[in-house]
Amino acid sequence: MTSASVRASYPVVANRICNRCAIHFETTTGGPGSYFCSFECRFWSKVSRRGPLECWPWIASLDSHGYGHIWWNGALVLAHRVAFELEVKPLAEPCVLHECDSPACCNPAHLFPGSKQDNSDDCIRKGRDRKATGDASGSRLYPERYPRGARVNTARLTPEDVAEIRASTEPGPILAGRFGVNRSTITRVRTRASWAHLG
Ligand SMILES: [Zn+2]
Ligand SMILES: [Zn+2]
Repeated sequence: MTSASVRASYPVVANRICNRCAIHFETTTGGPGSYFCSFECRFWSKVSRRGPLECWPWIASLDSHGYGHIWWNGALVLAHRVAFELEVKPLAEPCVLHECDSPACCNPAHLFPGSKQDNSDDCIRKGRDRKATGDASGSRLYPERYPRGARVNTARLTPEDVAEIRASTEPGPILAGRFGVNRSTITRVRTRASWAHLG
């Protein structure tokens, strides 16, 4: 195939210093995540890591149940599950449960794997291996976030929208359509030309 030519068409845009770990890296896109050297750094940038015994809250957007989510390997996944898998081990179990009853908490020390029967409240929806399609897709789970025709191009973004846009790897035009804003608005959010105060 033409991986060399594909690579050639996406030249290195910049040498950056990771916003989290300060490692030097090269980026070929100006898109979301390009300010971090890795998924791990992007993920942990959204968690307030406190003392080892304290809760580590997810500081990006939360759903109506108080859980954080992040796009991971093409699926929208519960943030605390990602924390557990990154820090402890990859899982076959369907659920990662909280000992601390704080849905936003991503401290692996407060998390443990379990079955759906262990805790129905803490075991919702998507596991890592379930693709976010069909009933697991965002539009089914969060219909209020995916208004159809309700927004126009003058729609104003909320801080939650901004966090979701920055976490998403979807193409700008798709996000523009979903949030009812112009593509340039999406670009400004991603490059932090707007909403810079949200980090
Ligand atoms: Zn890094
Ligand atoms: Zn906790």
